[in-house]
Amino acid sequence: MTTNTANPLLQPWTTPYGLPPFADIRAEHFVPAFEEALRLHVAEIRAIADAPAPPSFDNTLAAFDRSGRALSRIEKVFFNLTSSETTPALQAIEREMSPCLAAHHSAIYLDAALFARVDDVHRHRGELDLTPEQLKLLQRVHFDFERAGARLSESAKARHAAIVERLATLSTRFAQNVLADEAGYRLRLTEERDMAGLPQDLRAAAHEAARERGESAAGLITLSRSLIVPFLTFSERRDLREAAFKAWIRRGEDDGDHDNRPIARETLALRNELARLHGYRSYAEFALVDRMAGTPVAVAQLLAQVWEPAKARAATESDALRATALAHGATHPIEPWDWRFYAEKVRKAHYGFDGAELKPYFALDRMLGAAFDTAERLFGLRFAERRDLPAYHPDVRVFEVRGRDDRVVGIFLSDNFARQSKRGGAWMSAYRNQSRVDGETIPIIVNNNNFAKGAPGEPTLLSADDARTLFHEFGHALHGLLSQVTYDRLAGTNVLRDFVELPSQIFEHWAFEPEVLKRHALHCVTGERIPDALIAKLKEAQRWNQGFETVEYTACALVDMALHARTDADGVDISEFERTELARIGMPREIVLRHRLPHFGHLFQGGAYAAGYYVYMWAEVLDCDGYDAFVEAGSPFDPDVAERLRRYIYSSGGTLDPAVAFRAFRGRDPVVGPMLASRGLVDEREPA
Ligand SMILES: [Zn+2]
Repeated sequence: MTTNTANPLLQPWTTPYGLPPFADIRAEHFVPAFEEALRLHVAEIRAIADAPAPPSFDNTLAAFDRSGRALSRIEKVFFNLTSSETTPALQAIEREMSPCLAAHHSAIYLDAALFARVDDVHRHRGELDLTPEQLKLLQRVHFDFERAGARLSESAKARHAAIVERLATLSTRFAQNVLADEAGYRLRLTEERDMAGLPQDLRAAAHEAARERGESAAGLITLSRSLIVPFLTFSERRDLREAAFKAWIRRGEDDGDHDNRPIARETLALRNELARLHGYRSYAEFALVDRMAGTPVAVAQLLAQVWEPAKARAATESDALRATALAHGATHPIEPWDWRFYAEKVRKAHYGFDGAELKPYFALDRMLGAAFDTAERLFGLRFAERRDLPAYHPDVRVFEVRGRDDRVVGIFLSDNFARQSKRGGAWMSAYRNQSRVDGETIPIIVNNNNFAKGAPGEPTLLSADDARTLFHEFGHALHGLLSQVTYDRLAGTNVLRDFVELPSQIFEHWAFEPEVLKRHALHCVTGERIPDALIAKLKEAQRWNQGFETVEYTACALVDMALHARTDADGVDISEFERTELARIGMPREIVLRHRLPHFGHLFQGGAYAAGYYVYMWAEVLDCDGYDAFVEAGSPFDPDVAERLRRYIYSSGGTLDPAVAFRAFRGRDPVVGPMLASRGLVDEREPA
């Protein structure tokens, strides 16, 4: 039996900066720790809700923000590990605990005595002399209570709680099914002819994937994006491309144990019911109230400006692909598994640019150094590696982050390689938020990527896309690290969903700034600087295939909005819905959704992006227009623009209304033009 004294999750953490003592934490510690922390949190909540003193901001809102630290500490360790370094034991605990935790959080927001106190403070907010940040916390918490059903009748509350709990279970199963389908697929490359066309680094990555899985094949292609996308781009073997592509887009859609279709169907029905409980006709309407966009109409207007021009551009690209295929003697029509292959050939022929020529300049360590240097030049941050600090996997690097006054402002964990125990994609997460409510608390932030690791002794080389992803996630990390707020609930990335991608996406612009590349993109063998001509070609080539990229993305956003705008409460067959909807919007037949519904984690894992996949494009309007402020100032490191960016965007967390924050940074409201221009969707001819 595990006693509490032996359980590191229930002890104070005496590690430097209070990092989790990863080496001491074992799977069996979690359930007893969760149970104890849940008990503690319930007691804290009861003390706030049943306090004899009349409700005040301090004894209700500040106390609420301060509560649940022990639980949050354990939850953050647990869910970060189940994402980055999971095991069957952790997965089993996840299945067991997810509904309990959802029920616990749901119960807090349905606590009538607690809500009565929050509501009382909210009603008297005008008389309380609150700071703007306190008012923001009050509004946020009050809104969260309403959203969680605090105003509903007793029977509706019970139903609400049951729905939320069930959705958590469905979400976990959805994610685990996708992971299982990805892990279960292996395209074995056994002979030299199976490798035809593959560049050296992809061969090495495929070989490494085989070795890690104990396979004797010379190479292995899994459904991890970092292997399958380059395979589809370079493999001369059309039959293998077709087989791999078809498996890739069928994740979550096969009959049997890992079928996500019934899970999605039930999820959608429950979401619709949830929206109706709150008086909305559709889940999209319900979700958009808590976004900068405000209504589905505002989203539809943005997507409509993009969709037809994107299709027109994709059609032009498709013609170029067909011509190239014919020139190579291929008379077949362009199928989805051909697009990336011929797009790469066009890129090479027309733009004199070859992804493989670039990669030696984009060594992972150099690009990480470039991201750190950019953060230093913009915001005065310095990153120093601490090899003595604990991490959960040998590949994770831990950095101390210091500000201009040399004080440590945060800890940054950098976890870059794909492995079987890590979920797909790239993301930022926190082990601890910045706050001051309990004394100065510095944030502990992690970035996860899924780059294919270089062979032992060889550097890991990134594609341009990988480098962009690295900067994107690092932009999210800076949002967490630069946070300067009082309350935990308003810290860092605790902002509206269509605003949260602004700090990440604007940071991508620096990845390809010539000034950054000239300093950091040094050849991994010769150490020579990236040539100007290659930078120019890179910029030029980035325009190519934007029709495809925009169609692939925007179609997902349109399907998501349509799916969640449905007003009938019955679930829907997502495969059928997807087919019908794509036909309706005129999806080009050679392009497949970037994420098909049966594995669309943004919508069905956690659900934070349900009726919200559009947010990347919404934020892109903000980031392109925002970056133009540096262009107008004449330098990508203009100190005044950088300081406004830090103050109003990266440091303000949820303390400002997003529209107000953007206006304070930019001096005016955002405009769409720079986004359309950067995607090449408007005619950019210089005036005569
Ligand atoms: Zn992001």
